[in-house]
Amino acid sequence: MKGKIVKIEADWVLPVTSPPVKDCAIIVVDDVITNVGEKRYLSKFPCDEIIDCSGKILLPGLINAHAHLELTGFKGKIKRGLSFTDWAREVVSMRNSYNENEIISSIKNGLDELISSGVTAIGDFSQTGITARIFKEKGLKGTVFLEFAGFNPELKDQRMKVLKEKIPQSPPLVKGGGGDYVRFGIAPHSPYSVSRDLLKESYKFAKNKGFPIAIHISEIPEEVEFIKGGSGAMRGLLTEFGVWDDDWKIPYSTPVCYLEGLGILKGTTGIHLNIVTDEDIRILKENDVSVVYCPGSNRWFGRNWKYPLREFLNNDINVAFGTDSLASNECLNMFYEMRIVKENFPDIDNNTILRMATINGAKAIGFEDVTGGIAVGRKADIIGVDVKESSITDPVEYVINMAERVSFAMAAGKIIKDR
Ligand SMILES: [Zn+2]
Repeated sequence: MKGKIVKIEADWVLPVTSPPVKDCAIIVVDDVITNVGEKRYLSKFPCDEIIDCSGKILLPGLINAHAHLELTGFKGKIKRGLSFTDWAREVVSMRNSYNENEIISSIKNGLDELISSGVTAIGDFSQTGITARIFKEKGLKGTVFLEFAGFNPELKDQRMKVLKEKIPQSPPLVKGGGGDYVRFGIAPHSPYSVSRDLLKESYKFAKNKGFPIAIHISEIPEEVEFIKGGSGAMRGLLTEFGVWDDDWKIPYSTPVCYLEGLGILKGTTGIHLNIVTDEDIRILKENDVSVVYCPGSNRWFGRNWKYPLREFLNNDINVAFGTDSLASNECLNMFYEMRIVKENFPDIDNNTILRMATINGAKAIGFEDVTGGIAVGRKADIIGVDVKESSITDPVEYVINMAERVSFAMAAGKIIKDR
């Protein structure tokens, strides 16, 4: 066998792709997991190094399927209780005043917070694309979704030109070795901020090149009101931003139906989807849309309606979690997100919640079969949580109820946070 062989031993391993194992060992060759099993069966396995993680629960690196790391520096700077449109005004004006150094330090600070809370892969919406370089420096995986708006059709050609300039060719990922850990994708901002033609053309471009696509969809009542009837606060905001289009045709439908009608939903990742109808859910399933639920962001905004999580799960839709940005969340911590879900949905079992924070996230950001589980052939993205009690019987429950930080993190076989 070629490559450096490392054995990691721990009290518990939660592979996610299979049931928890007590007194477990994982064999990693270079960046890939090659064996997972009880310690006693792997005791004689020849290896170059043993990493002792006794007193810890190991699990796959968590996946934050939706962030805006460029906005990390906004933490605590936007007051709570604003309407969404007032919030958007604040964010846009603050974002315009940020220079490149502030953006870079925002991204780095955000990543440090995510690494210390066990995240090893991220779906980041980025206006600059700078995140890709920093993901690589930090050894993380991720899809950098280049985000753009452009409601007025006159902006289409310029936006497409910028997108094509920013997006380099990224080689496809290969399970079990090779490939690139950092990919690019595209993110038309939302159905209310991007014109029909720009939505369609950017989708076609991404599909032809094999880039993943993500869009904010059905986040707020103002968006639904606008797409259904062309009225409300959103129209005022677009006018104020100088992008209103007098010839815009009102879709007279829900945001989901509108995007399906444009033919741009197939395989897309939908961020939020806070407000949906039964028909929307059917369409999302039919189009294999992954949904990214942002529990902390919804809490921050004080949205007190029930998230349709149960409905998505009942319809076998892939649901992942995202932190969104610190312009609308208290922290960048996936354990915090999981705990909010547990509070909001005490009847949803812990294994399902953990899957949403790991393997489902991998699918949502275009890393299906590569990360999100501790299984043979997947990349060695492994985190460790300290067990502070003398004995535990349910390690999944322990992680969801108790974990806040990790004391060990490995990404593609490299230690990024040491014990
Ligand atoms: Zn977002």
